[in-house]
Amino acid sequence: MLAKRTCLQILSEGPESINEAPKGFGSPRELQEQVIHLQPGTSAWNLVQEKIQALSDSVERNAFMVADLGVLAEQHQAFLKALPRVTPFFAVKCNNSPSVLQVLVNLGTGFDCSSLVELEQVLRMGVAPSRIIYANTCKQISHIQYAASHGVQLMTFDCEEEIAKVAKFHPTARLVLRLWTQDSECLFPLSAKFGAPLAQCRHLLTVAKDLGVTVVGICFHVGSGCQTPQSFHQAIADARHAFDLGLQTGHPVSLLDIGGGFPGKKDFVLPFEEMAVVINRALDQYFPEGSGVEIIAEPGRFYGTKVCTAAINIIGKKDVMEQGGRRLMYYLNDGFYTSFGAIRREKETRIPHVVKKFDGKPLLYPSTLWGPTCDAFDRLGPTDILLPELHVGDWLVFEDMGAYTHTLSSNFNGFARPQMSFTIPSELQYLLNPVPLIP
Ligand SMILES: *Cc1c(COP(=O)(O)O)cnc(C)c1O
Repeated sequence: MLAKRTCLQILSEGPESINEAPKGFGSPRELQEQVIHLQPGTSAWNLVQEKIQALSDSVERNAFMVADLGVLAEQHQAFLKALPRVTPFFAVKCNNSPSVLQVLVNLGTGFDCSSLVELEQVLRMGVAPSRIIYANTCKQISHIQYAASHGVQLMTFDCEEEIAKVAKFHPTARLVLRLWTQDSECLFPLSAKFGAPLAQCRHLLTVAKDLGVTVVGICFHVGSGCQTPQSFHQAIADARHAFDLGLQTGHPVSLLDIGGGFPGKKDFVLPFEEMAVVINRALDQYFPEGSGVEIIAEPGRFYGTKVCTAAINIIGKKDVMEQGGRRLMYYLNDGFYTSFGAIRREKETRIPHVVKKFDGKPLLYPSTLWGPTCDAFDRLGPTDILLPELHVGDWLVFEDMGAYTHTLSSNFNGFARPQMSFTIPSELQYLLNPVPLIP
């Protein structure tokens, strides 16, 4: 019966049984967004087009996003295939939508959480604390206490002060030492803020030993949007060094965490599969099979990027004459403060699909895409995107909008993030089933 209706009919019927938000840990399931089941032959892209079509007679053309949860299963398979020795712990900060997390719970990933709220969100879904790494090197004491009282043991550190905090507030924690990495060639470097240089490791490991805190592993993050596989090779080599120091100082080191930084876009300068070849080679060299080392990673954008597609409406337009000729400026109802905060920092320009038919090949003009707020920093990308001439009310569609988009959005100036719709191929519906909670 579902098959006869369009995606949109199902949507417009509204939520049938959105569950009550859980009051505490005893409640049966996490609040779910309503998820549309896609029948064979339909796709999330169809839904985007149907929604645009349905809104074309309306003045209420709010920006919206459509998520395809089936992509998560595809990315998971691709990850396991390319890095067969590595267990993924999804970085929750990349995309924390309940249905995204629910699918990942059922696919069997672990989770990388960075705060009390992220720990709570994942624990409430019934995830065993052993499937969580609290991967924030500098933690608020009350958050450490929360982890301690909820059985979350694995947590990262990179300095002496943190060891002292953990010794006092979570003495049975299993610590993972985060190494500094060279990451100048990535989109979002992390090395200014995180990581202990190799030269400090012996000292830190000795301090931990003296304070009675156990270090069980070594981790690093080569920076998000990493473009040089050599970064992974070097970091894995350094980790081997740190491992040996750990063993020498009497720690039962047996976990290697290679962090995140795997690209999510297909056309990224360094394809994931190429990066994986370098990683596997380094792992086999420094941590060969049979060495008894458990290897995990914390992928974020690799899983999330391709999940969401955003449709954005042109709400204003300016036609400007410059020395070089004509420039068109468009004002859109999504921008830096809602979905594009991280995307503006990417080096490559995101080119949107134009949802409009033209007779023949239209002329292209240098165009600037502005967000809706009263801040001139609120731009979606560079100032010179070549686009055909568009008008108020026209739509632009951006793909690859599932990583670091809505998790960064604010309500600045009274603008809200685009409304989300979730879809899943009907044969994968079971991935949304809640797991029984651990009492
Ligand atoms: C953000 C973050 C990740 C995820 O990074 P991606 O580049 O999205 O894969 C993993 N680990 C830590 C500690 C992070 O801060």
